Amino acid sequence: NARMVHKLEQMATTDGLTGLFNKRAMLEAAAQKVQAASRFSTKLSVVIADIDLFKNVNDTHGHDVGDLVIKGLAEVLIRQKRSTDLVARFGGEEFVVLCEQTDEAGAMLLAERIREDLQKTTFHIPGGTVKVTCSLGTSTFPEAGRDWDSLFKAADDALYASKRGGRNLSSAAAPRSTDARDRAAPSKRRVG
Ligand code: GH3
Ligand code: MG
Ligand code: MG
Repeated sequence: NARMVHKLEQMATTDGLTGLFNKRAMLEAAAQKVQAASRFSTKLSVVIADIDLFKNVNDTHGHDVGDLVIKGLAEVLIRQKRSTDLVARFGGEEFVVLCEQTDEAGAMLLAERIREDLQKTTFHIPGGTVKVTCSLGTSTFPEAGRDWDSLFKAADDALYASKRGGRNLSSAAAPRSTDARDRAAPSKRRVG
């Protein structure tokens, strides 16, 4: 019975395809991490990764290959994250990494490592190969937001800046300013 309870708990907090945390589990952890960062005045960064033009993968090769690619990005994230980072599948082909004691530079470093690792990955499918890229957005507590919702929104805005900028890019959220005119555009970097 205890094993059954454990299994049910696991099913409630993990994503079936990748074994990563699901969105619900991440939201619970995120609330705690933001509280802790606030209390101890430490940095906390959010990295969002979203596969580029993923709909094309499904449309061209089918859903099974799409799932293979999603699992592939999950493996990249597990490989690149530090042991203290939490990683979750947030939606279809969108992932979130929550990084304790990580500043803007550290978050951008992780984002770029993820981006480059996926870019180098070749997926082998019956009769050929598939390659994909992803775009990323980062934000850091407390500069980009003092609660989870604003922190996530800032990282999501940065992700969209990466998409608009041509994809296969990482962008960092600008620090919030009381004067909107001081707000810089998200920084953009393309490496390699
Ligand atoms: P963009 O570069 O702007 O992110 O383009 P995109 O095509 O990746 O983005 P969009 O949001 O238009 O499409 C995401 C697609 O992801 C739509 C849906 O068919 C697919 N999808 C969502 N969940 C799953 C899943 O669990 N497995 C598979 N194979 N596909 C999924
Ligand atoms: Mg996408
Ligand atoms: Mg998406």
